[in-house]
Amino acid sequence: MAEMMKAAVVRKFKAPLKIEEVRRPDPGPGEVLIRVAACGVCHTDLHAAEGDWPVKPSLPFIPGHEAAGHVAAVGKGVSGWKEGDRAGVPWLYRACGVCDYCISGWETLCPDQKNTGYSVNGGFAQYVLAPAAFAAPLPDSLGFVQAAPILCAGVTTYKGLKESEVRPGQWVVISGIGGLGHVAVQYAKAMGLRVVAVDIGAAQLKLASDLGAELVVNPATTDPVAEVQRQIGGAHGALITAVSPKAFSQGINMLRSGGTCSLVGLPPGEFSMPIVEVVLKRLTVRGSIVGTRKDLREALQFAAEGKVVASIEVAPFAQVNSVFERLRAGKVSGRVVLSMEGT
Ligand code: NAD
Ligand code: ZN
Ligand code: ZN
Repeated sequence: MAEMMKAAVVRKFKAPLKIEEVRRPDPGPGEVLIRVAACGVCHTDLHAAEGDWPVKPSLPFIPGHEAAGHVAAVGKGVSGWKEGDRAGVPWLYRACGVCDYCISGWETLCPDQKNTGYSVNGGFAQYVLAPAAFAAPLPDSLGFVQAAPILCAGVTTYKGLKESEVRPGQWVVISGIGGLGHVAVQYAKAMGLRVVAVDIGAAQLKLASDLGAELVVNPATTDPVAEVQRQIGGAHGALITAVSPKAFSQGINMLRSGGTCSLVGLPPGEFSMPIVEVVLKRLTVRGSIVGTRKDLREALQFAAEGKVVASIEVAPFAQVNSVFERLRAGKVSGRVVLSMEGT
């Protein structure tokens, strides 16, 4: 009889996930099977389960793309991994390896990529598969719970900050201080940047101050554009992780001349930009999607050295639906990581 495992399954968009016994996958050639110890809950998992984006996952599917655990089995032809190794499974499940993007260090733009917890089953389960070439080796000093948020929130904001081209000593606005934003503040500080934090939640702004943001602004009560222009003459760059289209326009308007806005949040919708301002101020607006395997190794190293420590609430796997509810309501501080042990 096939081995079974517990998993949280999306059977219908905008409906609660079902905790079910499903067939445990076997690693095929070139794949490893990971026994999940911890999996972070990213707002992307919520977008996936709601069917928010134009290309939707096909139902049913298992979300989760911040999975960390031990390798439980290796498929044929796998080198570099053995049973018991510590591994993470990020959003970039696999890329083709041969297209123009893959061979030029832009595997995150590969048109033939698969995404964990979206186009293939993810880590809200006791076991998850990963191609051996794309699973992330985890530094020994980093526990599974601490490693989990780095696999998406960490690498995404680390890359997004690099893409903002802000240099040490310069100002960066981080808009949205949730799972992504609170680690972004720490990467920014570790890179020597000065941080303005923007969020509509008081708890999020308190966390940002504690983590070293020098200026915090709540757009629910203060015009963030006027405030940032008045206080620092505009920021050199911005990283928008907020789940609100309005925050995108505001982010661009918080820049000083020559600045770059790195767009990372993915609320469905559109936003507008003032053409004359963008042109005359030579602004750059740039999307940024997760990071490459190289970016991920670097992002994990910051965490292994204790320079980035995610603020984590551990929740039992069975509580995934109430975690989603709180994420939707903006009531999560830092990241919730689901614990899979003993489920
Ligand atoms: P989260 O829910 O933990 O955090 C979102 C934060 O945005 C919350 O703190 C909320 O209070 C804040 N916010 C809401 N409206 C705001 C506003 N008007 N101004 C400022 N802040 C506001 O979510 P998360 O897990 O950090 O993910 C954030 C977004 O990033 C999601 O849309 C997610 O899908 C996306 N994402 C993108 C990538 C990528 O590679 N581009 C990777 C991961 C996640
Ligand atoms: Zn994510
Ligand atoms: Zn490719």
